[in-house]
Formats: sequence, C-alpha cells, structure tokens
Amino acid sequence: MLKPLIAANWKMNKSIRETGEFITSFIRMVKDVTDVDILIAPPFTSLHSAAQLLNKTGIKVAGQNVYYEEKGAFTGEISPAMLLDAGCASVIIGHSERRQYFSETNEIVNKKIKTARKNGLDVILCIGESLDEREKNETFEVLDKQLAGSLKDLQLDGITIAYEPIWAIGTGKTASPEQANEVHTYIREWLRKYNPDSERVRILYGGSVTPENTRTLMAQPAVNGALVGGASLKPDSFAKIVTESKS
Ligand code: PEP
Repeated sequence: MLKPLIAANWKMNKSIRETGEFITSFIRMVKDVTDVDILIAPPFTSLHSAAQLLNKTGIKVAGQNVYYEEKGAFTGEISPAMLLDAGCASVIIGHSERRQYFSETNEIVNKKIKTARKNGLDVILCIGESLDEREKNETFEVLDKQLAGSLKDLQLDGITIAYEPIWAIGTGKTASPEQANEVHTYIREWLRKYNPDSERVRILYGGSVTPENTRTLMAQPAVNGALVGGASLKPDSFAKIVTESKS
C-alpha cells in the first residue's frame, strides 16, 4: 500500500507572518504523525521562510506553479532552480485555476513538468473535468487528453497525480467516495498502460476535502491522499485531515 500524501494548496493566501504562525502551531499538532507524508504549498513570497521553519520536520514545501524556461527575460516568472533555492522539493503543475485563468494548456503543462523534473523537482500534476463535461459523460475522455498531453514523453518517477473535479473545487460539493474511487481506478489503469512501472505514483483526490469527509474518501482503495485548498488554511483543520488519513 502506498503511504498517503496530504498536500495543502494555500493559493493566494497568507503573508510571511501568517505562514510562520500557521507552521508554528501545525508542527506541534502533527509531531507524532509518521505514517502520512505532508506537504505545504504556500505562495512564492512565503516559500523560503516556510522551508526554514519546516527544516528537519519531514514536512515538505512545494511551489504552486513554475515556468518552463530555466532563466532569462520572462518578467514575473519563477524557474525550477529558484524553487529549489527557496527550499522546495516539489511543485504543483496544471491546477485548474491556472488552466482557467492563465490559459495553461496540456502542452504548456507538459513543458513545465519536463523542466521541473529535469531540475529535480517532484511534481503534482492536477487534472479534472468541469461540471458540464461530467454531465455530458465526457469525464474519461477529458482525463485521457489531460494525461496524454501533460505526460507526453515523460517517465513517471517523481510524479503524483491529483484528480480534482473542477465542480468540487472550493464549492463545498465533494465527489462522493464512490465517484472518486471510480475515477482514481480509471487513472490507475491509464497509468499502468502508459508505463508498467507506475505503481508508485500516488493519486490524490482534491475538491472540498474537509476534516469531516477525509476518512471516507481515504478509505477508498484507489485514493492515495488528498490535495486540500480551503480546509488547509487553518492549522487545526489541516492537522485533523492529516490524522484522519492514517490507515
Ligand atoms: C484546490 O484548489 O486544489 C482545492 C482542492 O481546493 P478546495 O479544497 O478548497 O476545494
């Protein structure tokens, strides 16, 4: 069985001071947890201080985005080397908010994953269908395209998949445990066909995960962890999600 990974995506929230306050209380709450991997993705401005505060705790820090070029005249962008320098071990790529508001295509996502992996960053690749696509029974077709386009010419080591149905992100509407398990099973089969050496790839569920629904989601055999937005912003709520994820 894969060790669960619980990841916090803070999006555009928290100052450096708020990051410090969160981490100081959170590490006390999860100090005895050894059977769950934990990762926090703060905004860029808090990465360095978060990484310093989390040093030696085993809790990893991730960027929420990265650019696909290594350096140069790309005003406003952040390179993989810069994320590593700030103390990141990994990066979230292809979040639906990046796809929706910043026009990220599967091709761009693929280029970003390639540069991130080349530089030694682990990657959480986000995929998921919209409500309209689900209602039209296009979920698996959409996922096929996102997986094939995003993972083109890539090995799967260092990659985690986050299945995040767009209709469940920040809406309070969680996929039912059965819906999540069905899609995760589909993704697992897709990965097996793509590369037989894919068993170590974790598939996280994301979309309105809360301390209350974590246990039933994590009890699904094909769910290997969670990517948590809103409920990761308070230390007690995120710590509860971590402790509820223990097998
Ligand atoms: C996310 O944005 O990755 C997410 C899952 O958000 P929320 O938990 O708030 O739905």
